[in-house]
Amino acid sequence: MDKILRGHHLLCVHGFRGMGYSPGFIKKMEQIVRDIRDLESDFDVRVRAAFDDACMACPHRGQTKCEANEGSNEHVLSMDNKVIQHLGLQAEKSYRKSELLKLTASKVRPEDLDFLCEGCSWLHYGVCKEGISQLRKSYQTVSES
Ligand code: SF4
Repeated sequence: MDKILRGHHLLCVHGFRGMGYSPGFIKKMEQIVRDIRDLESDFDVRVRAAFDDACMACPHRGQTKCEANEGSNEHVLSMDNKVIQHLGLQAEKSYRKSELLKLTASKVRPEDLDFLCEGCSWLHYGVCKEGISQLRKSYQTVSES
């Protein structure tokens, strides 16, 4: 159940609505997202700025870097590093999933995605901002109850 997630995927998991780069990638993301959103389960997540569990199922994964298009590797790495820094995490360190969700809910506002995810082709759909907004609401509800 323990997972490896790259920095920007810590945000993607909240907005994922079944869209993706291939049927295999979508299936893998669905599994990851199901485990992340299952509030009954907690596990370790190793955070990194490099290939992760989702990348292993991505058709754009090259030998050593993302090959979706020219500049894509630098782009995903920059998003990873921005998210890791924004959340105050350290790359290659493991955190409990519950801790990561709480940190994301408290430190990331929907509008922060304009900077953190700048250049991502999914950003304009709005589902990622909605996902972050829902996460923040669910943590407000928990802290108020
Ligand atoms: S905008 Fe892109 S990088 Fe940001 S959460 Fe959505 S899919 Fe992930």
